[in-house]
Amino acid sequence: MIEKDNRNLKLVVLKFGGTSVADVPQIKKIALKIKKEINLGNKVIVVVSAMAGVTNNLIDLVKSTSQTPLYSEYDVVLSTGEQVTSALLAIALDNLNIKARSWLGWQVPIISDKSHGKAIIEEIKTEQISKFLEKNDVAIISGFQGVSQENRITTLGRGGSDTSAVAISAAFSAERCDIYTDVDGVYTTDPRIVKSAKKLDIITYEEMLELASQGAKVLQTRSVALAMKYDVKLRVLSSFEELPGTSIIKEGKNMEKSEISGIAHSLNEAKVTLSGVPDQPGQAADIFGALAKHSINVDMIVQSSSINYEATDITFTIPETDLIRGESIIKKIQKKIGFKKFITDTNVVKISVVGNAMRTQSGIAKTMFETLANNQINIHVISTSEIKISVLISSDYYELAMRSLHTAFGLDV
Ligand code: ADP
Ligand code: ASP
Ligand code: MG
Repeated sequence: MIEKDNRNLKLVVLKFGGTSVADVPQIKKIALKIKKEINLGNKVIVVVSAMAGVTNNLIDLVKSTSQTPLYSEYDVVLSTGEQVTSALLAIALDNLNIKARSWLGWQVPIISDKSHGKAIIEEIKTEQISKFLEKNDVAIISGFQGVSQENRITTLGRGGSDTSAVAISAAFSAERCDIYTDVDGVYTTDPRIVKSAKKLDIITYEEMLELASQGAKVLQTRSVALAMKYDVKLRVLSSFEELPGTSIIKEGKNMEKSEISGIAHSLNEAKVTLSGVPDQPGQAADIFGALAKHSINVDMIVQSSSINYEATDITFTIPETDLIRGESIIKKIQKKIGFKKFITDTNVVKISVVGNAMRTQSGIAKTMFETLANNQINIHVISTSEIKISVLISSDYYELAMRSLHTAFGLDV
């Protein structure tokens, strides 16, 4: 639960992603953008990501030290990326005579639980920054990080600066939260893969939530859920061009429209098959219970029906980034479960068609499967929900799949 600060500052939150702070010239540019906001009479809280590529490099450093690192220390390493950009931006703003200072997550503090690598924000103390902003113009907060009750640094999961920005907007009752990134808004699908993707002027929280949760990384899923919960006015905008962007709204003219809102893909998938699982009650509960206990999210699941109720195969997907941990957890219970083989495939991508149309139109699955078949693309696993259909396919074909589905559902500009 995030408590709202009740002071009456006219305050906006601006978040700048990795490419927006990729180098010093870029940081100087966003300092000028922030200056414009101050000239409009606003107090500004800026949330920054690490420079593009830095978090990946830090992960490589950790992984080359150990494949099974202490996650508390992993977070200490990862949080350094955002420390650099927040201070560089403060220096750039000082050069423009703007009164600003940087805050690390623990200094605010942004208090989170202790699930390192994917921590959940529990509380944001607004006191210090509100006081600072009464006399100064800009508070810069390092995104992606918090501090646990145990006084350890935590990180919020990849793309977590979006969640920092929205949580901070809620805590400070900001007038709006602008997410500046390297595309000029939310599109019907990733515009870097499908050139004919259409930019959306508005999208509902619900649709955005579903697109993000299926892999559209333009916003971290949790940031959309938080914005919905706390009524944060959220926009996605380009750091590089002055364009109107996309507003994420509660409901719109399109609320009841029966349409496909977009196509998402997720590369961070690993397919796991446990073969020869003795067909007895309680097996699925043991397997998925063990993974849940270690906060590993299982997504798609299929179980083959056994002949004579002897043995089955269970196939499921987990994030590829959790595969090493997942394998060691499952192998520890191999004797108890009695399965024969643990087989993995990381050369897979999940493609999802998302939209309200699923609720009312029966032909969506048919169109999806026919389109993939016409392109000779084999489907490994299928899963459906009220507003999405997902398929797991070989990663060799994901761009072709996305382009052909985008065309098949009439989304091309
Ligand atoms: P940042 O570093 O600013 O947080 P991200 O790389 O996390 O930026 O998110 C922006 C990227 O999201 C875009 O460059 C684009 O490739 C990708 N993306 C995926 N799906 C979509 C979509 N539906 N609309 C816009 N961008 C998308
Ligand atoms: N730097 C972190 C990442 O690359 C957080 C973020 O950019 O939102 O995942
Ligand atoms: Mg991001």
